[in-house]
Amino acid sequence: MINAMKEAILYKKLSDLPAGPLRRIEASKAGNKIQCGACNHRCVIGDGEKGICGVRKNEKGKLYTLVYGKAIVENIDPIEKKPFFHFMPGTRSLSVATVGCNFRCMYCQNADISQISKERAFEDSDLILGKDLSPEKVIEHALKNDCPSIAYTYTEPTIFIEYALDIMKMTHKKNLKNVWVSNGYMTKETLDLIDPYLDAINVDLKGFTEKFYQEVCSAKLRPVLENLKDIKKRGIWLEVTTLLIPTKNDSLKELKNIAEFIKKELGPETPWHVSRFFPTYKMIDLPPTEVDVIQKAVEIGKKAGLKYVYSGNIPGDSFEDTYCPKCKEKMIDRTGYSIERFDDKGKCSKCGANLNLVL
Ligand code: SF4
Repeated sequence: MINAMKEAILYKKLSDLPAGPLRRIEASKAGNKIQCGACNHRCVIGDGEKGICGVRKNEKGKLYTLVYGKAIVENIDPIEKKPFFHFMPGTRSLSVATVGCNFRCMYCQNADISQISKERAFEDSDLILGKDLSPEKVIEHALKNDCPSIAYTYTEPTIFIEYALDIMKMTHKKNLKNVWVSNGYMTKETLDLIDPYLDAINVDLKGFTEKFYQEVCSAKLRPVLENLKDIKKRGIWLEVTTLLIPTKNDSLKELKNIAEFIKKELGPETPWHVSRFFPTYKMIDLPPTEVDVIQKAVEIGKKAGLKYVYSGNIPGDSFEDTYCPKCKEKMIDRTGYSIERFDDKGKCSKCGANLNLVL
């Protein structure tokens, strides 16, 4: 049996933090309080309390993760499901998650696992759902099931950084890759730690206004934008996803701003996935996104100069396919999660242009 409660990394006793913008309260009031540095909430956590994610707890001045080795999900998924369309296309990825999340997105599709640690029944207890799954077992299962990568996904991997990092450190020795599906809210310290082992990341750019991030996700936009730029600079393969929610983040202006940000700051070769929303969790009063809104967003992305813009959650849509950015010939045909490739090892088989695939 794995002891899921393990001392966390990336935290400081408040009294040890130097004065400045990163220390959220005065040292004289610090007592046994600590400050977590895993994500940009930088929660100040009192003795016996948990951070916003609900899975990192202060016990007598020490921060503990409550979810080490406790997998709430272990699935074998097509990498296209994450979605990654340009990273190892056509392969399978062993996907792991623990409970908990640092965001509170009102439309979360995985709220049953991401938000459960914040529910009343769990608030005052350290009971954590999930099965024992050691890092060694994750590697073993990936190899046994022909998965060349491990995906840290479904919930936000930053909140289970200790578990993720221990797995990540083992993968490269076994010729496996690491991919994160993330809200991009980690701190620079977290990025520094994962950088040597992280092969690809899909970051949700959920909207392009502080209002949306605050009202819908209980977070801030700016750190996400800064991290996207940083990730690109570090040379980690990056794809971006935006779920379009009617009236919330789907104005033409906002879509244009996102597309221009990606083009200018992340590069025109960065794939942008624009996905359809369906009512769920706390957002059941809105209709699903109209298909033509998604298609319009794809066109906005292409007009802004992005080479690869994809629709999501519309199975069979032609905007799921990859076309050569130069001669426009179809190079990857996608139906749902199954694909057929016509490229020549990442190059257009007709004109030889680079398709920006990581194979
Ligand atoms: S990882 Fe959790 S405890 Fe740490 S700062 Fe983020 S929300 Fe707070």
